[in-house]
Amino acid sequence: MKKDIKSLPLGELEKEIVSMGEKKFRAGQIYEWMHGKLAGGFGEMTNLSKELRKKCEENYTYTNLEVIEVQESKIDGTKKFLFGLSDGNVVESVWMKYKHGNSVCISSQVGCRMGCRFCASTLGGLERSLAPSEMLDQIYQITRITNERVSNVVVMGTGEPLDNYEGLLIFIKMLTDENGLHISQRNVTVSTCGIVPKMRLLAEEGLQITLALSLHAATDEKRRKLMPIAKKYGLDELMEACAYYFEKTGRRLTFEYSLVGGVNDSDEDAEQLAERIKGLKGHVNLIPVNPVAERNFVESDKERVWAFKNKLEKYQINVTIRREMGRDIDGACGQLRRRYKMESGMQT
Ligand code: SAH
Repeated sequence: MKKDIKSLPLGELEKEIVSMGEKKFRAGQIYEWMHGKLAGGFGEMTNLSKELRKKCEENYTYTNLEVIEVQESKIDGTKKFLFGLSDGNVVESVWMKYKHGNSVCISSQVGCRMGCRFCASTLGGLERSLAPSEMLDQIYQITRITNERVSNVVVMGTGEPLDNYEGLLIFIKMLTDENGLHISQRNVTVSTCGIVPKMRLLAEEGLQITLALSLHAATDEKRRKLMPIAKKYGLDELMEACAYYFEKTGRRLTFEYSLVGGVNDSDEDAEQLAERIKGLKGHVNLIPVNPVAERNFVESDKERVWAFKNKLEKYQINVTIRREMGRDIDGACGQLRRRYKMESGMQT
């Protein structure tokens, strides 16, 4: 099988190119075309000889994403993209414009096997993990289409990034590499449902990325009802893994908390949450749950959201209410891909 050239870090590409009998610096040129200039194929690499381009065509696959659908929010300019992969699968990515720069939310897998009750991405299970190239391509393709630089990347789309651990790590290294887009590691956020051993491994990688933990409940009993992963890892060990991440990296965590009306949004829930995280210097991101047709969860009303926030602040916890971007365009995780699959009659 041909190797996927865009998933090879520079060091590996150099070895490959040298073993083809070419000079090492050629690898640097090819790398720059792929990850700096965002070339669409070998044909564009005009400073390489025709023979070398042909050799590359013969030996490697060159991934590109097909734009299947673009939705643009009339409220805030958020754009949602549905991309086709070479094997016929589809993934979605979101582009958001903020005052401090442009942010892209990418998918890390096709589908997801984590089974969170409120999430549309997991309804059809996991198809496969994405290659580093396919994660990078979401950012590259959006950069080409918008013609604007991406400054922030959040791995918060479909999939559980820590369930694609090796691919994720290569992706982060290539994304933040000075020979590629060179996005600052501090501007990269990885969101996890809480796979404890992988969080601990990530803490030891020497990265400066932000880790976001999808918490959503402050007692094991409640969390297990919303997130199957909580049956495997209890809150005590989960919070210990968070403390370990902070200790090793010096990076404060973000705790994501989707407020589900009548389920996890009472004052008592807020107090229990404060108790759980108060030693961690983290930051809480409150998200009113985005209703998914297949699930009967409702979002908390505005007053409840503010009351919850105030309660947390009484415990000196840093809280923001997530601005809901693109609510008018199949906003919630996995909803665009899911609608597309249903309409096109694909198996879900
Ligand atoms: N698997 C990772 C990343 C993808 S989900 C994780 O679990 O963190 C990104 C975030 O959106 C998570 O916090 C997830 O719990 C949340 N989410 C998923 N569906 C949602 C919905 N319908 N409403 C609000 N938040 C949702």
